Amino acid sequence: MTKTFDVCVIGTGGVVGLSIARQLASGRRTVAGIEKHRTAGKETSGRNSCVIHSGFHEVRGTLKAKLALRGSSLIAEYARDKGIPIMRTGMLIAVPRGALREGLWREAGALWNLWRRGRTMGVQFRFIFTPSGVREFAAVDAVGGIFIPAMHVIDVEKFLQSLEADATANGAELSYGQEVTGIRVDGTAYVITTNRAEFRARVLINSAGLHAHEISRMAGGPEYPIEFLRGDYYELAGGMARWNIPTLVYPAMPPRSPSKGIHLSPRTDGRLFIGPDARPVPVPGSYEKDSTPKELFLAAARKFLPAIREDDLQWSYCGIRPKLRSKDGKSDFVIRMDRTDVPLINLVGIDSPGLSSSLAIGEYVDTMVRETGV
Ligand SMILES: Cc1cc2nc3c(=O)[nH]c(=O)nc-3n(C[C@H](O)[C@H](O)[C@H](O)COP(=O)(O)OP(=O)(O)OC[C@H]3O[C@@H](n4cnc5c(N)ncnc54)[C@H](O)[C@@H]3O)c2cc1C
Repeated sequence: MTKTFDVCVIGTGGVVGLSIARQLASGRRTVAGIEKHRTAGKETSGRNSCVIHSGFHEVRGTLKAKLALRGSSLIAEYARDKGIPIMRTGMLIAVPRGALREGLWREAGALWNLWRRGRTMGVQFRFIFTPSGVREFAAVDAVGGIFIPAMHVIDVEKFLQSLEADATANGAELSYGQEVTGIRVDGTAYVITTNRAEFRARVLINSAGLHAHEISRMAGGPEYPIEFLRGDYYELAGGMARWNIPTLVYPAMPPRSPSKGIHLSPRTDGRLFIGPDARPVPVPGSYEKDSTPKELFLAAARKFLPAIREDDLQWSYCGIRPKLRSKDGKSDFVIRMDRTDVPLINLVGIDSPGLSSSLAIGEYVDTMVRETGV
């Protein structure tokens, strides 16, 4: 039997799909969520740096900047309310000693840019001008940098579990282990076919992460040119306690970089990682270890930790970012009503800072759905 809903969200195994389902179900609408994996967090949402960014790395005026700014404060409040592990690590954007040999201009320019952007957003910064000043924040070898105190790292698994519990408590019907294989329009509704069932919905929300461009095509929406950037992580043996690194340590990246850079990434459970890199891969598929050279990560770690040895690093996991192709390498989130005859809202290219923005994306999509009258 085909059940009819006001709204169907495809991709409720991800932090964005779950936030949307939770938000939409809090009104009087009937909401279905469909996810192909048996549990949440199997794709990008469970494979990131767990950092709650406030958006100052993003270009001013973009959806990324706006939604991360709003989303980061919503998440910090939500985590405190729900007892989800969240750690105020702060973020050190540091200039390694080796940069002195290369003339410092690259790092100084990048820091200046970040500071300017952050200032317009009201982000609090502290400038550090000496190696001993840096060591007050983390035991790394750097000549200076900036420190942003209001940065958090969250336990993403617990965050996903909490969103899922909220969505269900609000009345959303979440179906796991169901892959959407077909979508057609029947009168004023979409009929969504999975490997096990059929759903009808007046509004379709496509939050399928790495596969959102395929779902858009299935639903009669536009073609989106997407590229995939893989990022790997290595774990540092002994964790935060051994290395005395309680804060996020980022390099200063030039404005047009495709990512925020390979960084030292502490977690709420005391573990410490280095990553991610950003390598184009042809299709999202395998999350297995591949041939990425460990030397890349060792070199990135040695910039800040000159004494680190190869056997201190162990490959741990990777994630893949879906990025909308753009000429300058800087692409924004797409959150768009792509069909109005039978409303289709596409979320495409939700790469970083999608985790940080997730609760704000829930609000944003809720407003769009309200405008349809549903
Ligand atoms: C290496 C890396 C580091 C990152 N670091 C950060 C960070 O520190 N901070 C931050 O804010 N962001 C970070 N991000 C970005 C963040 O992880 C993503 O923006 C966010 O997780 C996207 O969530 P999502 O729900 O859109 O996607 P996903 O988590 O991919 O969820 C989409 C879901 O759709 C499902 N799906 C797809 N196709 C179908 C189908 N046909 N039928 C049914 N279900 C389907 C998938 O199974 C999946 O569960 C990082 C990303 C990467 C890769």
